[in-house]
Amino acid sequence: MPEVVIQAYRVSGYVKGPCTKCSKEERGLVMFDDYGLGWECLACGEIGRVDRVEWVEGADEDPHGPEFEA
Ligand SMILES: [Zn+2]
Repeated sequence: MPEVVIQAYRVSGYVKGPCTKCSKEERGLVMFDDYGLGWECLACGEIGRVDRVEWVEGADEDPHGPEFEA
């Protein structure tokens, strides 16, 4: 089986790329009860498991990041 890898922002937990179901870029990182990692779509509720997470630094390009706090 091919390895499933996602890229996630370390600070916000926002996952890059579109949801496999609704294609919206509204995914957040989740951890399952067995400590496996995956993502959950905030738009449609779809979840997916991943084998590995590549952590992304740099909140500047993160639309869900804290950079716009007053
Ligand atoms: Zn979705």
